[in-house]
Amino acid sequence: MGDNDKNGWSKRTRAVHTGIRRSQYGEVSEAMFLTQGFVYDTAEAAEARFIKSGDDEFIYARYGNPTVRMFEDRLSDLLGFEDGFACASGMAAVNGALMALLKAGDHVVAARALFGSCLYVLEDVLRRFGVEVTLIDGTDNSAWDTAIRANTRLVFLESISNPTLEVIDLAHVCAVAHANGALVVVDDAMTTPVFSYAAACGADIAVISTTKHVDGQGRMLGGMICGTRDLIRGPVETYLKHTGGAMNPFTAWTQLKSLETMDLRVRAQASSALTLAQALEGHPKIGLVRYPGLPSHPQHQVAKAQSASGGTVFAIDVAGGKEACFRFLNALEIFTISNNFADSKSIVTHPATTTHQRLPQPQKDLLGITPGLVRISCGLEDTDDLLADLRQALDAA
Ligand SMILES: *Cc1c(COP(=O)(O)O)cnc(C)c1O
Repeated sequence: MGDNDKNGWSKRTRAVHTGIRRSQYGEVSEAMFLTQGFVYDTAEAAEARFIKSGDDEFIYARYGNPTVRMFEDRLSDLLGFEDGFACASGMAAVNGALMALLKAGDHVVAARALFGSCLYVLEDVLRRFGVEVTLIDGTDNSAWDTAIRANTRLVFLESISNPTLEVIDLAHVCAVAHANGALVVVDDAMTTPVFSYAAACGADIAVISTTKHVDGQGRMLGGMICGTRDLIRGPVETYLKHTGGAMNPFTAWTQLKSLETMDLRVRAQASSALTLAQALEGHPKIGLVRYPGLPSHPQHQVAKAQSASGGTVFAIDVAGGKEACFRFLNALEIFTISNNFADSKSIVTHPATTTHQRLPQPQKDLLGITPGLVRISCGLEDTDDLLADLRQALDAA
């Protein structure tokens, strides 16, 4: 696949083996170290570790833990980055990365099609601390060219936006940002770690909600900030270890084991998403099917050049507005109404009344969050069963 590591191992192999730290017992399956602290043989050893800890030396679980470290090493490697810091949630990762890298007076350019909580951090939190934030149409390359300027410290974007599935030309954004000395921070939740191209396009930081495809089974929150070792073990770790956003070892262990099956799960889910999106396109009860893997998607060419897949999520606009849309949602039998995505259970979400309810109407209009818009996350059920369920519910709409 062209992404083998220096041992010649492909991602599928690394997803099972990378980052293992075996204890003196030589366990096969990765151990879960449920410990906050670590003991030192002598006072001198404690002093030395606080001055500089070695690779296998830990101080306190808010700073790091062996199980968490295994997860950081494995996932950051799969994403093509040197290092990672695991966080309590995707939002702890987004907020942590931004707070660690920005200060008052800095300028940030961000794509406006963002997950609601990311918008809150950018528009409310950062502005309160004197960071200037410019929101633009991220699909328009010339908007990035115009908005990025000399004091732009950082740009922020979702590689595929939630929930409208806009795709951004990441190589272009990286080129403009880097020419102006700005860092590129990519929220990679929708793109999936399996199909991520953030590192290949030159992004400096990828923030991942591991709640999504990494856990993949709707059990627990998690996040990761990936980047160069200098950024991660420098400003990112310093900020996070003192402010308490670290992932707990139980979550790290569960999600570490989830990485072993992630490739199989995500490819199956993405394959279903493509099949369902293709089958529903042109359906009389649907105004629009939005999926980066369909030629009808406005950024299909960019999406195809960047990634081998359109992902595990697509969106439809049910004709007839909110009432027809709710009839459709309520008639579904396999798909569950919820607001997560990437679960092994297929999920439908109505962004206008849930995840993006907070946004004023003009902003919803601008982002294309219509009363009929449904975000559909494909799980691991049989694809034909899923299609039959969508069809019978559309009949009911
Ligand atoms: C879910 C999500 C987040 C937040 O992740 P949590 O793990 O729920 O905190 C951030 N960005 C995007 C694009 C998401 O989809």
